[in-house]
Amino acid sequence: MAYRNYIAGQWVDSDSGRTFEVRNPADDQLIDRVPLSGASETIKAVDAAAGAFSVFQSMGTEARTDLLRSISTRMDERRGELAALLTREQGKPLAESEGEIDYARSYLDAAALEADRLAPQQRLDAAITGKEVLVRPTSIGVVGVITPWNFPIAMLTKKLGPAFALGCPLVVKPAEDTPLTTLLLAELCEEAGAPDGVFNVLTGVPAEIGNALMSDSRVRMVSFTGSTETARTLVDGAKKNLTRLLLELGGQAPFIVLPQADLDSALDGLMIAKFRNAGQTCVCPNRIFVPDQMHDAFIEGLQRRMEQLVVGRGEDPNVTIGPLINDRAISLVESHVEDARQRGAQLVLGGQRLELSGLSDRFYAPTLLTGCTSQMRCFQQETFGPVCPVRSYDSLDEVIKVANELPCGLASYVWCATRAEGLAVAERLDTGIVGINDPSPVTAWTPFGGMRQSGWGHEGGEAVLHEYAPPKTYSLGDIGRGLP
Ligand code: NAD
Repeated sequence: MAYRNYIAGQWVDSDSGRTFEVRNPADDQLIDRVPLSGASETIKAVDAAAGAFSVFQSMGTEARTDLLRSISTRMDERRGELAALLTREQGKPLAESEGEIDYARSYLDAAALEADRLAPQQRLDAAITGKEVLVRPTSIGVVGVITPWNFPIAMLTKKLGPAFALGCPLVVKPAEDTPLTTLLLAELCEEAGAPDGVFNVLTGVPAEIGNALMSDSRVRMVSFTGSTETARTLVDGAKKNLTRLLLELGGQAPFIVLPQADLDSALDGLMIAKFRNAGQTCVCPNRIFVPDQMHDAFIEGLQRRMEQLVVGRGEDPNVTIGPLINDRAISLVESHVEDARQRGAQLVLGGQRLELSGLSDRFYAPTLLTGCTSQMRCFQQETFGPVCPVRSYDSLDEVIKVANELPCGLASYVWCATRAEGLAVAERLDTGIVGINDPSPVTAWTPFGGMRQSGWGHEGGEAVLHEYAPPKTYSLGDIGRGLP
């Protein structure tokens, strides 16, 4: 396919005809070019979405959930093609790309099922309210969607699922590093019979598109997944129209191993949670706390496991760690490791870029640091790379205090021997989700949202439907009593 904007059911160029390059992070090869769009194309996309709202509403829930299931089926039929494209533009190993396609589909399937179960109307108890009151979930309208590069398809379907289930047309802006899978998804929506204007995608200049979305009062909500820094810009922009924002932002997950935990289970769990997508995940453990008495055995076991990781091009079936997404990303990783070493961390493994024949210089060696402290940047901010910073502890109270001291609160992990002690520690962690002996706590069926500066609102489960269809109240007063 030719990669163009998809607006009002048409594949179109940017108004200026200008484009920008999308390159493979593994080898810098040009994959293709996409339109360089800005405000004028955004307005056209919002026109299309606003015009499609009544059509989408009149389809009804059953037809819309059938549409979601049809998109999901098409994703499955073209799983190999989608996964290959995802690996080319994003770099992750092919098996992880296939996993992301399946995971992304689960958000469409879950939204369809949850919407079928959503009560169209609730009648409040007249004995309590003193009058007849009906509450109906009411679709919010046009939604702007801004997605990140780390899970370009899954972070999109988290929004597409509930939006389509509830009849909200979308204007989607994918990340500039990874727009291609989103455009391929637009093709699948078209083939599945999505009405023109309900799924619009444009690629281009982030701030221009973001500003245009915020400046248009027809855009009733912007659903954003990305960094806390960009979210602050969106919050500023939202002031004008008081645009509702759904924000899924960054984290800095602690991974706390309790003294009685099984060592191998904790290590296996850490490897899954830490090295998925080369450590470029929002729920990635970035602060690993191990009891003093377990420390040496833990480091030895972790080093052994990390030495098994294979770094290289995602298409190679043996590879478990792909390239980092861009030059800025690998420079950040380098600076965090350098900072930690200068502040006294010990480098046990890795600590440098890898030179791989015929490939770019964005491959970073799996890196193990011990003796890490809260003063180090790798403990304070997301490193977004294959780096494991470990600290030993003798006081659990102190660890919980440190775990909660950052302004973000997205995910955390506790490794324990009993359910009771796991839940007791989890209760004290100020994050939106806690994996208790669970390295993959986020699912399409689970409400997920950050505490404090990690976000506003929830995605997943039934909770997300209320974001796209807030309750509207019909209070019938005295007259209601006489109505059939
Ligand atoms: P980012 O904020 O740089 O970019 C995210 C999106 O915002 C991209 O599409 C980008 O083009 C766009 N953008 C940038 N500036 C903009 C502006 N001024 N106006 C409008 N849009 C703008 O984030 P990223 O580097 O792509 O993603 C990584 C971040 O996302 C990490 O912090 C990670 O933790 C977070 N993340 C969070 C979740 C979650 O569910 N909480 C999931 C995945 C990623």
